[in-house]
Amino acid sequence: MIADYSLRLLPPDAADLSRLRQVLRQEKGIDPQRITHLQVVRRSIDARQRTVYVNLLVRVYVDEAPPAQLFPPIVYRDVEASAPAAVVVGAGPAGLFAALRLLQLGVRPIVLERGKDVHERRRDIASLCRNGEVKSNSNYCFGEGGAGAFSDGKLYTRSKKRGSVERVLQVLCQHGAQTDILADVHPHIGSDRLPRVIENMRHTIVTHGGEVHFSTLMTRLLLSGDGVVGVEAHDMVTDTLHEFRGAVVLATGHSARDVYRYLAAQRIEMEAKGIAVGVRLEHPAALIDRLQYHLRGSRPACLPTAEYSFVQQVGGRGVYSFCMCPGGVVIPSATANEEVVVNGMSNSGRTGRWSNSGMVVEVRADDVEGTDVLRVLRWQQQLEQMCKQQGGRGQRAPAQRMADFVNGRLSASLPSSSYVPGLVGSPLHFWLPECIGSRLREGFRHFGAQRHGFLTNEAIVIGVETRTSSPVRIVRHADSLQHLRIKGLYPCGEGAGYAGGIVSAAIDGERCAERLAEQIINK
Ligand SMILES: Cc1cc2nc3c(=O)[nH]c(=O)nc-3n(C[C@H](O)[C@H](O)[C@H](O)COP(=O)(O)OP(=O)(O)OC[C@H]3O[C@@H](n4cnc5c(N)ncnc54)[C@H](O)[C@@H]3O)c2cc1C
Repeated sequence: MIADYSLRLLPPDAADLSRLRQVLRQEKGIDPQRITHLQVVRRSIDARQRTVYVNLLVRVYVDEAPPAQLFPPIVYRDVEASAPAAVVVGAGPAGLFAALRLLQLGVRPIVLERGKDVHERRRDIASLCRNGEVKSNSNYCFGEGGAGAFSDGKLYTRSKKRGSVERVLQVLCQHGAQTDILADVHPHIGSDRLPRVIENMRHTIVTHGGEVHFSTLMTRLLLSGDGVVGVEAHDMVTDTLHEFRGAVVLATGHSARDVYRYLAAQRIEMEAKGIAVGVRLEHPAALIDRLQYHLRGSRPACLPTAEYSFVQQVGGRGVYSFCMCPGGVVIPSATANEEVVVNGMSNSGRTGRWSNSGMVVEVRADDVEGTDVLRVLRWQQQLEQMCKQQGGRGQRAPAQRMADFVNGRLSASLPSSSYVPGLVGSPLHFWLPECIGSRLREGFRHFGAQRHGFLTNEAIVIGVETRTSSPVRIVRHADSLQHLRIKGLYPCGEGAGYAGGIVSAAIDGERCAERLAEQIINK
C-alpha cells in the first residue's frame, strides 16, 4: 500500500523520521515494521498561534518497494550541428530554461551572455563588495545565472501552473539542487549552492550540442523584412563583432537598460510598466525569530530562521515586503558606478546574524511624469543616482534607523549591518520621493501594530531598492509569444515584463522555447 497522510506536528517531531514512524503508529495505526519508505511530499510551518506546528503531507510505503527515483529525469537529446538553431540572449533563469527546453525539442540553442561564467563572476562580486567598484558587465545582475545566481534562491511563485512549477523544480534538482525544494511550501536553494546548479545546466547545454558564449554582448538585432534573423554581438575578450543566426529569445533581464534604449531607438514596440520602489529593511535575525515564533529565548535548531510577509494599502498603493532573506545579507546590486541599489541574498542554511527584506511601494506607469516608453526607467535610474549622492564613495549606501525614519528624526548612530561596502547615516525620510517615503512610513506603522516589536530602532532602512521588476514591457502576442510586429523575436522573462522571480522567469523561458520550436518545425 502507498498512501498519503496529513500530519500536524510539533517541530522536533517533524524533524525526526523515527518520531514520524511512531506518530504514524499512534495516529494512523500503521505498524512501523511494515513501513519500507517515508517521503515528505509537502512541508509548511504554521506559526500563526503561540504554539508553532509543522504541517506535513507524508507518503507512506507499506510492504512496498521504495521508489527508484523521486521524479522521472528529463532526457536531453543530442542536437546535431545541422539542427535548426535559435539564439538565446541572456543566461539568467529565463534564458537557461529556454535553452534546455530547446534542446529537448531538437533545436540547437546558442546562448549569448554579456557577463562571465558563474565562477569568474564570483570574483568580480567579491571585489565589488570589497572595493565598491561596479564592473558594468559582471555584477550581481549580469553574468551566468543572471540576477538569480547570487540571491536567496527562493523558488515560490504565485503562478497557478503547478505542473510547470514542479517541472522547474525537478530540472533544478536534476542539476544538483537539494530535493527538499520539491516538498517545502517555501523552497529556497541559497547562494552557496546555486552556482553549482547553474554550471551543471550549462554543462547539459554544451554536452548536448548547444553553445554558450560568455563576455558576449548583443549589440543589435539583425532585422530582415518583418522578422528577425539573428543578432550581432560584441565578443568583449577579442573585441570583435560576430553575427549569430536564428530566431531570437530575448531574455536580457530587468537591468539591461542599454537593450531597452536600443529597442526604443529602433521603434520596436514596448510600453512603460509599473515597478515597486523602496528600501531594504534589516533586523537582527534573532529578533525576527522571537517575533514570528513567539519565543522568549533563542530559536530551537528544528525551526528554520523565521520569515515574514507584510502587505498594506496606503494612499491607494500597495506597500509590501518583498524578497525576504532570513539570515541573509544586504548586497550592492547596481549595474553602474553612478548608482547605488540594494538587494538581498542568503545561503542555504540561512545562518547569518541578520534578516532583511525589500520594503517597497507600488509605482504605476501613470504615476511617473511624461508619456514616453522609458519614463519609468529614467525615474528609477534618477532615484538610484540620488541614492549614490547620499551614499558617497563606492557602493556605500545611505541608511537610517527604522523608528527614526518613521518619526522623521536623524539617526545619531547606526547599528552594525551585513552590508559589506558600508553605510552612511542619511535622512531617508527627507530625500526619498514623498510618494514613496510617506507611504513606507505609514506602512511601517501598520506592520509595527500587527507585529509588536517589528517597528524598532534595532532595525535599519537602507536605500534604495528599485530593481524589483522591469520598468518596460516588450509587447508580444499572447499565443505565439512573438513580438507584436517582429516575427521570430521572443521577448522573454522578467526583462520583457512577463515574469517576476526565478521560477516564473524559468517557466516563461520554457514557454517561449516551445512556441519557437513549433514555429521552426512548422516551417
Ligand atoms: C540580489 C537578487 C536577489 C534575488 N532573489 C530572488 C529570489 O530569492 N527568488 C526569486 O524568485 N527571485 C529573486 N530575484 C529576482 C530574480 O533573480 C529575477 O526575477 C530573475 O533572475 C529574472 O530572470 P531573467 O532570466 O528574466 O533575467 P536575469 O536573471 O536578469 O538574466 C538576464 C541575463 O541577460 C544578460 N544580458 C543582459 N543584456 C544582455 C546583452 N545585451 N547581451 C547578452 N546578455 C545580456 C544579463 O547579463 C543576465 O545574465 C533576485 C534578484 C536579485 C538581483
